[in-house]
Amino acid sequence: MGGQGSGTWERWDRKGTVEEYHTLDVRTMHRRGWLRPGMQGKIRWLRGKREVASIGWTVWDEEDDDLAQEVELYYTVTPTTGNPEDLRSTVFLEWTRCNYGGHRPWFTCPNPACNRCVAILYGGPCFYCRHCHNLAYESQREDLSGRLRRKARKIRRRLGGSADLREDFPQKPTGMHWRTYHRLRQEAERGAASQSRLG
Ligand SMILES: [Zn+2]
Repeated sequence: MGGQGSGTWERWDRKGTVEEYHTLDVRTMHRRGWLRPGMQGKIRWLRGKREVASIGWTVWDEEDDDLAQEVELYYTVTPTTGNPEDLRSTVFLEWTRCNYGGHRPWFTCPNPACNRCVAILYGGPCFYCRHCHNLAYESQREDLSGRLRRKARKIRRRLGGSADLREDFPQKPTGMHWRTYHRLRQEAERGAASQSRLG
């Protein structure tokens, strides 16, 4: 992702999309001393004083191992229609050695197609990483299609037509090379396609 990724993070933070999700931060859990074999507890998310969600968690007790290897999450999801469903999810932990001693933990995203090492998981109903929930990419995609549509409108005006992407594409102006016309039309059609994808 590189530099582009960090920009996305900022935008995403400002937009506050994250508030729609319940987050689990492995660093917080570690700081509170929860990520030790045999520990268990409950995490609750409040809006004001009202509890909006909660999950239970257990760290499995592994023999001969000070560093916990997996956390099990269990919770009940109540869909808008239908019956409540009990869910269980095992999240494996990875530990990396710190420069100044000790270890720091990472969640392994429990989506089998992902398995990224991440600090934060977002629920729900599944507690997956931000990549799996598409959090950071939503705004990036909108930006791209917005740019393409603006460009398409500009091209249409340049050809002497209407900026409305639903109207027929303008004819080739006299004096313009066919090659130029085709290139512009192709670019404009990419923008129109990104509009129809958004509905
Ligand atoms: Zn993931």
